[in-house]
Amino acid sequence: MTYPYALTLQSVEPVTHDTRRFRFDRPEGFRFEPGQATHLAIDRDGWRDEDRPFTMVSQPEERDHLDFVIKIYDDHDGVTQALDTLKPGDRVLATEPEGAITDHGAGTFLAAGAGITPFIAILDARARNGGLKGEILIFANKTKRDIILRDHWEDLDGLTTHFVTDETGDALPDGPIDRDYLEGRLPTDRPVYICGPQGFVDAMRQVARDLGVPEEHIVTEAGW
Ligand SMILES: Cc1cc2nc3c(=O)[nH]c(=O)nc-3n(C[C@H](O)[C@H](O)[C@H](O)COP(=O)(O)OP(=O)(O)OC[C@H]3O[C@@H](n4cnc5c(N)ncnc54)[C@H](O)[C@@H]3O)c2cc1C
Repeated sequence: MTYPYALTLQSVEPVTHDTRRFRFDRPEGFRFEPGQATHLAIDRDGWRDEDRPFTMVSQPEERDHLDFVIKIYDDHDGVTQALDTLKPGDRVLATEPEGAITDHGAGTFLAAGAGITPFIAILDARARNGGLKGEILIFANKTKRDIILRDHWEDLDGLTTHFVTDETGDALPDGPIDRDYLEGRLPTDRPVYICGPQGFVDAMRQVARDLGVPEEHIVTEAGW
């Protein structure tokens, strides 16, 4: 990989118990569309070849910073655990942004876990540029405490939210999100956006097809 950009860390804020918002300086020439990602490598000996993909959650017109919401896997010695040790002033290297998940119009957004990140940028952009028009967010998580930016989603005018967890006995519907769950909830005449682990992406794509969503309305890419 080549890394045309170096990003300097400004700050880190908690989002949930295991996700953080990392704010970096935005380098000159770093252009992207909401929903796209870049590969980040920590600019530290032993880590420069270990890049991982992460999605920008700030807006392209925000010139003075670049934000990422990153889930930290604290149970092993990977890149996200190392990212969690960065201090303001530390640097990461970044590739040119890319990615197939971009804004294809008002639709239904199916996310699992940290797969919400491209939809943060896309839904925020749609909310800022003319408002949301009946977009639906169906967001699967293991537990309630894993839900990224739940208050934000509930406060967005025009967005219908469905939070699904694997927990039983709370006020949220139990998972999984499957054909039974989506039948009647998933409009088939507008885009369906899918992001999350590979198993989730494959299953949701198949259900969308089975329910009659045309292939050109399915907006996704390889899962995580
Ligand atoms: C296009 C794209 C965009 C993405 N955007 C984001 C984003 O914005 N935010 C975000 O949080 N994630 C995002 N991801 C996912 C992110 O890239 C991965 O979570 C990240 O690469 C994990 O890196 P890691 O080195 O910490 O873990 P890795 O070592 O790469 O491991 C990843 C997975 O394997 C498991 N695993 C591997 N080894 C062990 C071990 N020894 N013990 C326990 N578990 C293990 C981890 O639990 C985890 O599920 C994106 C992925 C893609 C493809």
